[in-house]
Amino acid sequence: MREQSKISRVNNKKFEQPTVISLFALVGMSITAIMGFIGLFNKSFALAISLFFASFIYFIGYYAYKKFNNLRLSSAIVLYSLYILMFYLVYTGGVESTGPLWVFIVAPVSVFVHGLKRGLIDIAFFVAITSIIMLIPADLIAHAVYSTEFKLRLLYSFLTVTFLSALYEHSRENSYKQALELSEKYQKLAHLDSLTQLANRRDALSILKREQARIMRTKEPLSIILCDVDYFKKVNDQFGHNAGDAVLIELGEIFTGSIREQDCVARWGGEEFLFILPQTEAKNANIFAEKIQEKLQSHLVSYKNNKINVKVSMGIEQFKDNQTIDEVINNADKYLYQAKNLGRNQIFPKF
Ligand code: GH3
Ligand code: MG
Ligand code: MG
Repeated sequence: MREQSKISRVNNKKFEQPTVISLFALVGMSITAIMGFIGLFNKSFALAISLFFASFIYFIGYYAYKKFNNLRLSSAIVLYSLYILMFYLVYTGGVESTGPLWVFIVAPVSVFVHGLKRGLIDIAFFVAITSIIMLIPADLIAHAVYSTEFKLRLLYSFLTVTFLSALYEHSRENSYKQALELSEKYQKLAHLDSLTQLANRRDALSILKREQARIMRTKEPLSIILCDVDYFKKVNDQFGHNAGDAVLIELGEIFTGSIREQDCVARWGGEEFLFILPQTEAKNANIFAEKIQEKLQSHLVSYKNNKINVKVSMGIEQFKDNQTIDEVINNADKYLYQAKNLGRNQIFPKF
């Protein structure tokens, strides 16, 4: 139960965003198709065919995600087909040697799709291949020729855009992590009692609901114990409110140390605690309650120079068919009241 109530950690290494990847695939598909038609119009048939082919690859990237839900494959297809298209544009020059102008989209897309580290490695690989294409002597392999000034300016501006994209991605990842930590923290706070660090009433109720649904299926027994500190007001009056707080904290520790993995102990109210004991009949809950009382008989809470004697009364109820959670808790409360009437430091009912 303690394990179950832990808030599941979100994998914060994963920064890929499925919606954006599919959107990017769709945008890539549309733009390359439009450019393909422009190529056709300009009678650049080889360019047009390549662009239509790229458009088709983007479609595959989109389809891979929608059909197989495979984000990794889809992002790899989208990103590396973009690289290949860029290599082709740099190699052929595109329309009137304007092809290399498109390379700037590589930097932001790479870091966005693969995160900062992997994205930068991909960009380094991209720069290396692009440089090789541009630097190969044109008489060795025929390709678009650019002036040295153009090549240098292209490299400088590309590196600047890479730097800015990396900076942006870095701050995006950081704020994402911070937002995640904050939301985990607040989620935790919403379920924990701040003084004792036990589950709070709200968490106890949601555990009870879950357990009730489970026993309806499995027909296993489930018991609860409502436990109230005896004469707690006197502790506050005699030793002060801080001493009272220290008693509650120590009781919480004793209770937590006494339950099994599947059990839960929550702070139900001021000096009241609720035990939720799955797979436990009332008879066994009684044995457990006696053990708690035994522990407390020989225990004194130390606070400053004081040794404080603490006793509790407990009411036990086992879930029966068709009983609501409210009814079970009300019964336990009635039994607790009877335990108090028996003179305190008692358990009711006795089995
Ligand atoms: P009984 O045996 O009938 O339960 O007597 P009691 O004195 O324990 O019960 P009562 O309801 O009269 O008093 C409970 C006290 O618990 C009153 C309240 O101030 C105190 N209390 C509730 N929450 C806290 C808390 O968080 N810290 C401290 N120190 N005291 C608390
Ligand atoms: Mg009390
Ligand atoms: Mg009380």
